[in-house]
Amino acid sequence: MMKKLGRRAGQPSPPIVRIRRPLALDERPDIAGNLGFIGIHLFCFAVLVTGWSAVAVTVALLTYVIRAFGLTAGYHRYFAHRGFKTGRVFQFILAFIGATAAQKGPLWWAAHHRHHHRFADTEHDIHSPGVRGFLWAHVGWVLAPKNEPTKYQSIPDFAKYPELVMLNRWHYVAPASLVVALLALGQVLAVYAPWLGTGPLQLTVWGFGISTVCLYHATFFVNSLAHVSGSRRFMTRDDSRNNPLISLLTLGEGWHNNHHRYPSSERQGFYWWEFDMTHYILRMLSWFGLVWDLRAPPPEIYAEAKAGASTEPASNREAA
Ligand SMILES: [Zn+2]
Ligand SMILES: [Zn+2]
Repeated sequence: MMKKLGRRAGQPSPPIVRIRRPLALDERPDIAGNLGFIGIHLFCFAVLVTGWSAVAVTVALLTYVIRAFGLTAGYHRYFAHRGFKTGRVFQFILAFIGATAAQKGPLWWAAHHRHHHRFADTEHDIHSPGVRGFLWAHVGWVLAPKNEPTKYQSIPDFAKYPELVMLNRWHYVAPASLVVALLALGQVLAVYAPWLGTGPLQLTVWGFGISTVCLYHATFFVNSLAHVSGSRRFMTRDDSRNNPLISLLTLGEGWHNNHHRYPSSERQGFYWWEFDMTHYILRMLSWFGLVWDLRAPPPEIYAEAKAGASTEPASNREAA
């Protein structure tokens, strides 16, 4: 019985040293530099004026799912980890869709994420809840001036594409174009389909404001909650967890312990019962030749999972 309980609890976490010190000057929230981020949160309160409609909520769901895919498939699994291959045009399309989520540029995002894998849950990790506290890991690091520049040296393989560098620099053009599209669609629907009960402001509050804020915090949960709450299949040197709820919210990114064990795999749900919507969509896109060479965990990883192995190869962190 005890053995069974132990197996269910999963692999133990490594000892993590909590750093308790006041925030340095370049770690304090930069309010002036993040007015857009803060403004999008405040903009959601406009829903008290606009109310809701079925079409606005549907558009919010659509913009959430499409942009979540841009982040998970594009920013994360492609740009940060090269989990699959694609052509230069579709690479840019993925980057642009990801950029509409207003989480800065693809090179900024992916370079910081590579850094996270290299130093996960050590004092050098940019967002470890165990080391610097939950709030810092969730959102504090995003607002810190020290994390504002793109770590170009961490992503030379994609920084060689001028169109990606340009999008990275002018990333706010992508969310701004989504806002313009929603305002225009809302106006068209208000004039030609007034029975739908929507308009430019309502459609933008739902399709951009609420959808973006939900997507912010779902994404941030991968950095904060998925290093705190969930099960550990693999004994990684970080405190990553598999969390089904986060996987539902992020189209499959909650299998974070799987992911830290083998970061270059395109799929993060390693088994059919581990919901991974991003993987299903990428598989479908591969049938049409839009993406190819989807990398999967090798047999040794499955053997390790089955055995509940207690050791981890030294290459674990380098595989990012
Ligand atoms: Zn992580
Ligand atoms: Zn990753």
